[in-house]
Amino acid sequence: MPRKTALIYSQSFEQFSYGESHPFKVQRFRLAFELIAAYGLDRLPGAEVHQAAPVEEERLLSFHDSSYLQRMREFSSSTEPRADFLYGLGGAENPVIPGFYDWAKLGTGGTVEAARLVVDEGYTAAFNLAGGYHHAHRAKASGFSYLNDAVIAINLLLERGKRVVYLDLDAHHGDGVQEAYYDDDRVLVISIHESGIYFFPGTGFDNEAGEGSGYGYTVNIPLLAHSDDPLYMKAFDEVIYPLIAAFNPDILVTQLGADTFRTDPLTRLEITTHGYSYIMRKLAALKMPWVAMGGGGYDLMNTARAWTIAWSVMNDVKIPPALPAQFVNSISAMGYPNRMLTDAMHWADEEDRNTALDAVECSIARIRKLHFPLLIGSTQ
Ligand SMILES: [Zn+2]
Repeated sequence: MPRKTALIYSQSFEQFSYGESHPFKVQRFRLAFELIAAYGLDRLPGAEVHQAAPVEEERLLSFHDSSYLQRMREFSSSTEPRADFLYGLGGAENPVIPGFYDWAKLGTGGTVEAARLVVDEGYTAAFNLAGGYHHAHRAKASGFSYLNDAVIAINLLLERGKRVVYLDLDAHHGDGVQEAYYDDDRVLVISIHESGIYFFPGTGFDNEAGEGSGYGYTVNIPLLAHSDDPLYMKAFDEVIYPLIAAFNPDILVTQLGADTFRTDPLTRLEITTHGYSYIMRKLAALKMPWVAMGGGGYDLMNTARAWTIAWSVMNDVKIPPALPAQFVNSISAMGYPNRMLTDAMHWADEEDRNTALDAVECSIARIRKLHFPLLIGSTQ
């Protein structure tokens, strides 16, 4: 069957602000789209750019609590300062700003559309740049996330009777998605992230493995600060890839946060485009229908580069490692010094990486002991 892909994008993704000093900058979406277009990846044969539309409220009830949605609806249309900390609304992380609920519904609509194109219309891959709000809980905003687009989209796939792998590459644990499927064996939830020992949201340890019929179907790989490209690829090869292959889902859903990169201002992992591209290529080689969404990333050139790489891999197009000259001119005017799409493989300093390597080897051993017999049928 010929490849058919969709990139979900809307200029309205940018018509919102969390506030001047907030690390989440909505300009990230336009910058990523501009880089994709600079490489000509917005006009490939078989690839389409689709506009996002706000998700229907009815669909949000497949996960979110109606009183939480009602509170957001009310606050979003208010011109007075409002806060309700029971629902996580109104603090520095999840500010209450006029229109925030509509903006969140637009991003969620994009991910739902990506899922619909894949499950109902046979698209090979669909990628919503403005998604991946994996910290939103059933009745609480958290970590810049108001609505959990990943869960709402996966619920559509489950309604269609599909089995799903959700892989979360963001530097932060995908706690909201874990919560949604903790006792469910229809979704294999895998999150690889910076360890919650000292880092938001403080969960995602390797002993969090699911419960009831979902036992074994939640997999967490916590990484210590300074985990680098070789270590990241090792964890992927030794546990993530064999688990995805063994579960053999109907559809692969990925959160493609780029806040794992070594220059991210909020995190301490040391991944680069090298490890990220490697994983994108391995995922594409699985040839599974693929629903993708963006995610974290607080150095905007990292999100632009990462998502351009991801989209090029989804379309099996090789692109030059030097950024297009016109794009370099436009970003240098904005103060970005980047010249290259790709980084060389990066190793952390020896002492740091030895500590991180010991920790990841322990996690790999524990996951192989706990999950492999359940999902693969042996400990090999
Ligand atoms: Zn993150």
